[in-house]
Amino acid sequence: MVAAYNMPIQTHNTNAYDTALAQFDRAVRYLPIPDGVAEFLRYPRREFTVNFPVKRDDGNLEMFTGYRVHHSTILGPSKGGIRYSLAVDMNEIRALAMWMSWKCALAGLPFGGAKGGVVVDPRTLSPHELEALTRRFAAELIPVISPHADIPAPDMGTNAQTMAWMMDTYSMTVGYSVPAIVTGKPVNIGGSLGRNEATGHGVITAMTEALKRKNSSDAGSVRVVIQGFGNVGSNAAARAAELGFTVVGASDVFGGIYNPNGLDIRALQAYVADSGDLRGYAEGELVTNEELLTLPCDVLIPAAMEGQLTRENANKVKASLIVEGANGPTTPEADDILNDRGVTIVPDILANAGGVIVSYFEWVQDLQAFFWDEDEIFRQLNRAMIRTYEATERTAEEYDVNLRTAAQIFAIKRVADALMTRGFYP
Ligand code: GLU
Repeated sequence: MVAAYNMPIQTHNTNAYDTALAQFDRAVRYLPIPDGVAEFLRYPRREFTVNFPVKRDDGNLEMFTGYRVHHSTILGPSKGGIRYSLAVDMNEIRALAMWMSWKCALAGLPFGGAKGGVVVDPRTLSPHELEALTRRFAAELIPVISPHADIPAPDMGTNAQTMAWMMDTYSMTVGYSVPAIVTGKPVNIGGSLGRNEATGHGVITAMTEALKRKNSSDAGSVRVVIQGFGNVGSNAAARAAELGFTVVGASDVFGGIYNPNGLDIRALQAYVADSGDLRGYAEGELVTNEELLTLPCDVLIPAAMEGQLTRENANKVKASLIVEGANGPTTPEADDILNDRGVTIVPDILANAGGVIVSYFEWVQDLQAFFWDEDEIFRQLNRAMIRTYEATERTAEEYDVNLRTAAQIFAIKRVADALMTRGFYP
């Protein structure tokens, strides 16, 4: 029997791509680039869809759909994560691939942008089924991935183990080990120290840079709320707590927990590792994800998924600083409302760039077969985050725009300049 419930819902989540295009259009008009070049950059370069079977543990075959989109390959090989989620569809992946192009360009990395995903809730698969799905998807991607052309990484619903299976599948196919085919792998097969913590760590570096400019230097008096307790949210929470910030709220897909006196993040992480989610954690009040976004706090870190801050809730947000751990968490309408209210938004392509920055370090280490120690990774990560923040801020001053539009202007300009230097084929 073939079940159909993992097939994509084509009408769902067209929003993320609309958001990505709206942000692009807002930024590109500041740049003196020809209309044809601007139009070129609105399109994904390649879009790849695969439909493939996985044998479930009960012996039944089930069909799954996966995507890989290369938005741009102008600055170098395309780079970006693979997500497993029921919300995956072509428009979501297109948006995420486009954001990867700008994120890499903004951070000065020699990469274009890509993204991939499979329409699946990974929690509904056994470990064996998850491995089979990952290996089959990796095999289906062979025509479009390579360490010199397109390099996947983890994203929502995937992790270092997923990357290990992808690396192994690719390596078995070509006949030799190719660590540089993916980043975010386990350290014992060529992964980088610090990669697991990199995105969350970088989010907090971006937050610290923004707070400095608001003259908030006493970490303990800064109340932070974090939506999402996956790789980004939980590592951001841990780093914030390590630096002495007061994390008063956290959430996962099931809901949130609020404690105005500050959550014990280590205890919360241990609780989640043990029970699978943060429902039932006793040291705080249960709140819904919607309530979490409007809790009293100074900094809100949406680190879950796209489209969380909307026209409906933007007016109720109490934070004066938003640091986007997720990609695309704020709709353009919410952006306008929050900007009008004077809320500072550190945009996704700046705030969460730490992940792909350390992915770049991992790829370089793999290609050179020469590995760096952890101090070196974090030193270079912090330098890259601060340099990127400062470049964004300078652009914001130069063009008199907010940080999101500044980040987009800076990134689009870098890609457009490279495109015009290379010229047009044929
Ligand atoms: N998935 C991460 C992101 O959205 C990391 C991508 C990568 O390391 O290639 O930035």
